[in-house]
Amino acid sequence: MSDAATTALNELLAGNQRFVRNEPAAQNFIARRQELLAGQQPFAIVLGCSDSRVPPELLFDQGLGDIFVVRTAGQVLEATTIASIEYAVDHLHTPLLMILGHDNCGGVTAAVTHDCRGEGNIGVLFSKILPSLERARKMEVPASEFIEAVTDFNLDYLAEQLFSDSPIIRAAVTEGRCRMVGAKYFLGSGEVKILTPNYQPSD
Ligand SMILES: [Zn+2]
Repeated sequence: MSDAATTALNELLAGNQRFVRNEPAAQNFIARRQELLAGQQPFAIVLGCSDSRVPPELLFDQGLGDIFVVRTAGQVLEATTIASIEYAVDHLHTPLLMILGHDNCGGVTAAVTHDCRGEGNIGVLFSKILPSLERARKMEVPASEFIEAVTDFNLDYLAEQLFSDSPIIRAAVTEGRCRMVGAKYFLGSGEVKILTPNYQPSD
């Protein structure tokens, strides 16, 4: 495990604790903008949900240039979002990739409620949640826990998808240049919990 990845994860979790306590660090946007004119070197990538209640910069109490963020509803991936992550992994050498889900996710809830059926682009989005819904069904997850289980399984599915669809990310993780972590944000408490500390390809 690279020290840089551990340091990065600790910084995210420390920032989240500041956010939970409502004690954000002071920021000087004027000075930081000038510093960053030379370029960016974010210490973490966060793949998160577009939900307006889950902005990674705020909930990890980070500033300009600190984290490289990719957000889609339900964190679902396609080529351009994977390419965005690849850019940070390969060109910016960012040592940590966090896949961040959250409780009460509207995207996951809608996919489950509609049984992953839908028209047009929404239908495509729902279909990307289908493998996690099928996994929950196969495991006979009780109805009361179903949506949260699908949400959590979706993190594993996204990790698998990144490994299978991105040779760049797969190589970076297996060679220890980037650590991939699965985590979940809780809307009420503001806390982020690590669910999977270190994803590795299963095959
Ligand atoms: Zn969501």
